[in-house]
Amino acid sequence: MAQLPPMAVNEAELLQKLELLALTPQAPEANLAYIAPTTQAELLAARAAHPQAQVVAGATDVGLWVTKQHRQLAQVLDVTRAAELRRIDDTPEHIAIGAAVTLTEAFARLTAQWPSLAEFAHRFAGLPVRNSGTLGGNVANGSPIGDSMPLLIALRAQVVLASQARGERALPLEALYTGYRQNVMAPDELLVRIVVPKPSPTESEPPPGRPKAASAPTGGSDDTPVRSVGANILQAYKISKRFDDDISAVCLVLNLDTADGTVQRASIGAGGVAATPVRAQQTEAALQGQPWTEATVQQAMRVLQAEFSPISDMRASGDYRRTVLGNLLQRFWLESLGGAPASIAQLQATHLESAL
Ligand SMILES: Cc1cc2nc3c(=O)[nH]c(=O)nc-3n(C[C@H](O)[C@H](O)[C@H](O)COP(=O)(O)OP(=O)(O)OC[C@H]3O[C@@H](n4cnc5c(N)ncnc54)[C@H](O)[C@@H]3O)c2cc1C
Repeated sequence: MAQLPPMAVNEAELLQKLELLALTPQAPEANLAYIAPTTQAELLAARAAHPQAQVVAGATDVGLWVTKQHRQLAQVLDVTRAAELRRIDDTPEHIAIGAAVTLTEAFARLTAQWPSLAEFAHRFAGLPVRNSGTLGGNVANGSPIGDSMPLLIALRAQVVLASQARGERALPLEALYTGYRQNVMAPDELLVRIVVPKPSPTESEPPPGRPKAASAPTGGSDDTPVRSVGANILQAYKISKRFDDDISAVCLVLNLDTADGTVQRASIGAGGVAATPVRAQQTEAALQGQPWTEATVQQAMRVLQAEFSPISDMRASGDYRRTVLGNLLQRFWLESLGGAPASIAQLQATHLESAL
């Protein structure tokens, strides 16, 4: 550090910028350095008036562009004061999460609906980032290793984009992305909410690792389907080097509906395997309509491993990612047989016990 040239800080200019941050109500067209509208309508008007402004939510991604890359943001449009974007609307059919709802709040609501997500929710960043980062920021940022998108894809979520001129449009989350950190949002558009459909009344969340409405599973061998009537199984897996506060090397979320031992519907979201978060369509097709047996799972593992060509980088090699993808599907299968989920927390507890 001592060898780097000193950074010149113009304190007077900085002070002036800070003073401008005072949260007084502003007209959407006012050309201020920091704009923070309090309603969705004003926010969209400001977006239309200032399409070049940097949109910011919790700034846990954008903040790093400033602190690490020393980018200067001439104008910032803060979405987090708009009341509609901070709301969670719960109806019998869906959970609609405003784009500026924090990750903590969003995951708390999703975990209340799907308790098996508790550990995954805890693995997203650390508490300070979850408390200021937003669900909309994670989705809009579109990182291929972002954690909420594989989950939202598996849950068949829709994103709602809005502009002042054309109103709202909804699309499946995976259709938002067109390439590495590229998306279909127009310069006057914003992500306003994420809509997650709730399971129909016949489906509901089983205890972790156990299919709902299944009496004790009876099958599991190559040809005997696991006996389950109307079961829904949802598991989200994050593989990273550190347990806490680390970015995924691979993320896989599997959401399976079975009836009488046959896969009725499979919905699979994956991260860390392509330039964008993706739906594993070929693997879904390999599972759909098949008996939920080890033979089906083995076949689907081969499809999943061939479906993507993950890159090698500092987090993992492509080969490792491909192997792990298949292994996670196998783990999902084993957990669906009704055994206790193989969690790191459990392994640590067992180690601790044996050490004492
Ligand atoms: C220490 C640390 C750990 C992290 N760990 C994880 C992790 O485990 N998993 C993970 O997925 N991510 C992780 N992240 C990344 C980051 O926290 C998330 O991507 C977070 O959800 C971003 O949300 P934000 O509100 O802070 O977005 P911001 O940084 O404010 O914005 C991110 C991008 O989204 C755009 N944007 C924001 N809101 C909208 C909107 N409503 N409409 C249109 N565009 C919008 C912004 O213009 C910007 O391009 C981590 C970051 C840090 C610093």
